[in-house]
Amino acid sequence: MLCRKCKEKAVINLRQYNLPLCKEHFIERYISVVEDTIRRFKMFSRNDKVLVAVSGGKDSLALWYVLKKLGYKVTGLYINLGIENEKGEEGYSNMSERCCKNLAEKIDSELIVENVYQKYGSPAPLLDRNRAPCSVCGITKRHIMNEVAKKYGFDVVATGHNLDDEVATLLSNVLRWDEEYLKRQYPVLPAEDGFSKKVKPLVFLTEKENLAFCIFEGIEFYHEECPFSKDATSIFMKNIWAQIEEKMPGSKIRFFREFLEFRKKFLSQEERKDLGKCSICGQPTTAGDMCAFHRIISKIKVQHN
Ligand SMILES: [Zn+2]
Ligand SMILES: [Zn+2]
Repeated sequence: MLCRKCKEKAVINLRQYNLPLCKEHFIERYISVVEDTIRRFKMFSRNDKVLVAVSGGKDSLALWYVLKKLGYKVTGLYINLGIENEKGEEGYSNMSERCCKNLAEKIDSELIVENVYQKYGSPAPLLDRNRAPCSVCGITKRHIMNEVAKKYGFDVVATGHNLDDEVATLLSNVLRWDEEYLKRQYPVLPAEDGFSKKVKPLVFLTEKENLAFCIFEGIEFYHEECPFSKDATSIFMKNIWAQIEEKMPGSKIRFFREFLEFRKKFLSQEERKDLGKCSICGQPTTAGDMCAFHRIISKIKVQHN
């Protein structure tokens, strides 16, 4: 197989585009996809302060690295969720944190670390044992991202969601025809009073492309999946997508692109109304006078008393 651009030996074949590439042209293409996405969706400019939420995995670290390389003003945010496995100190959260610290040093970028266990006395997934662990983690991460962005005056929060994440979520949302979730599934969410602007510059790149980028650029990342995520719906959906893509290459990117067109035509984009304010942190909420995160935290306080 030869590189489509230079006819040297190809090291990767992007089957969805029937596009074999050498290392140099793969990296060149990867970077230009990220830049095009940032521009097309008006995500941020070189003057904006960008907070990159990093997990220690390949996607978010690739994002942090490429944004720095492109000359954006980036700072990493690592949320240590206090998740350990049988390896104790060498468990999931601490190992992930180490990968983030290593990259911060490598690219000479600032890293903010927030520690859930130290602050709330429990690993994030177990803050509320009546909810699915991934849901509690999601609420916790969103809350801390907003809090940190506001505290330090960041213009935008960037996350490493990739095409595989987006089509997995999209399929779940379509299976329920969940109009509210479908409306909000977009590469950019504008700032709404109290919520910071959120962007996903990697939505047109697959896990495989992010993995290859990390390997080619020598970015060390943590390989293990979160021990709590084994039963997650997202993993089930990703397995289904792998089968669809195997049989019909290009289905993922087509499904996502066509969805964006569909969304533009058929889903109205009016602002969300009736957002209340959390009485504890001031972040917006759709339910009563406490945000989802503080409803969880207040229950823990009651249990302790
Ligand atoms: Zn080439
Ligand atoms: Zn709150």
